[in-house]
Amino acid sequence: MLQSHYPYFARKEAPKDEESYNAQILIRAGFIEKIMAGVYAFLPLGLRVLRNIERIVREEMDTMGAHELLLPVLSPKENWQKTGRWDSLDVLFKLNARDKKEYALGPTHEEIVVPVGQKAILSYRDLPLGLYQIQTKFRDEPRAKSGLLRGREFLMKDLYSFHATVEDLESYYAQALVVYKKIFSRLGLTALQVEASGGTFSQYSHEFQVLTENGEDTIIHCPACGFAQNREINTQQEGDACPHCGKPVHVSAGSEVGNIFQLKTKYATPFGLTYTDAQGATHEVQMGCYGIGISRLMGILAEIYHDDKGLLWPESTAPFRVHLVVLYGQDEAQNKLLQEKASALYASLQSHALETLFDDRMNISAGQKFAESDLMGIPYRLVISQKTGEKVEVKKRNEQEMNMVDFSDVIQYVSIKQEIDMTQ
Ligand code: ATP
Ligand code: MG
Repeated sequence: MLQSHYPYFARKEAPKDEESYNAQILIRAGFIEKIMAGVYAFLPLGLRVLRNIERIVREEMDTMGAHELLLPVLSPKENWQKTGRWDSLDVLFKLNARDKKEYALGPTHEEIVVPVGQKAILSYRDLPLGLYQIQTKFRDEPRAKSGLLRGREFLMKDLYSFHATVEDLESYYAQALVVYKKIFSRLGLTALQVEASGGTFSQYSHEFQVLTENGEDTIIHCPACGFAQNREINTQQEGDACPHCGKPVHVSAGSEVGNIFQLKTKYATPFGLTYTDAQGATHEVQMGCYGIGISRLMGILAEIYHDDKGLLWPESTAPFRVHLVVLYGQDEAQNKLLQEKASALYASLQSHALETLFDDRMNISAGQKFAESDLMGIPYRLVISQKTGEKVEVKKRNEQEMNMVDFSDVIQYVSIKQEIDMTQ
């Protein structure tokens, strides 16, 4: 991508009414734009990050044999009345239409996926079945002050699983726990597996929490044995004895990146979702649901991966892998040569599928180019200037050190994948 043709959304200051760190830095760096409280636009750079998060989630959903579909955002009132959530779900956005009917904007999709799934589930042969989507959700959140961590419109991955028996649901659920850890690890995040708070499903539900200063949840956790609980059920204080191993617990702020539930027959019952077994007898279908906050994850990455100069994307989610920066001088003949060298390197990076933003802009100072590059947070910065001669200056965003690398070695240098495995 040529930066001279790339829309420039970065700006000196985030809007005054934006309180959250993640939205402030993402707005300043030109990744998102605030439309109103809890509602953001994803700009070209931000969308690239979102797509990378989605790609990792999709790849891991595939390993579970789940099938992607796309359910509507707009849904009929009747479905929500069937489960009682038209009245009980306080965050449900409701709409009146000109046909005098009422509708809901989907905050989650059990009410829609159950009747859809029913069409594919006739007998035990059709089970298990996993259906998922990556879809915009709407929730009338009372306090939308945490930027991407709490949107009133946000992107979620929601998987729903359907099973003939509770045992089959349990084994799928156990597999989901493993896959979820893998997803967060590939994103460069350490997620604690937290026993979920209260409610009807507490034994059958887990949250995944990333510890981060501006998270809205409070997590009591034990680094010694891995025990972790949400404050909503645990009143322990910093240093109290861990109920599992007796070592001191820590109390930290966290943000929930995923939540999984064994729904059992909670939604099958109101919709009459059944299957027939080998003997022809009818049974209710057992279900599980598994959410991941896609756009919240982008906010969490910004909260965790930054320094005082800007963002520091992990390689797996960075908008580009390489930022190629050419610095022009006063001499026109020299500049032409620099332009040729940089263009050749750009072509080579592209032919090796190394996603590159090429800062080919003229009349912009080196200082400004570097400041913008640091703010954007692309993992590798390559500089070509009169000073670099027959070499390329390579600097990783998260390191201070610069290396002079031969043109012929640059591709190999920036190709080494550094996917962090946070499960270790
Ligand atoms: P929270 O406890 O944070 O309100 P939740 O338990 O209501 O979330 P779920 O219904 O389990 O959320 O949704 C699945 C995932 O979607 C959550 O784990 C979270 O990562 C994400 N999510 C939920 N609400 C929001 C929101 N308002 N903005 C952004 N992401 C959200
Ligand atoms: Mg939750």
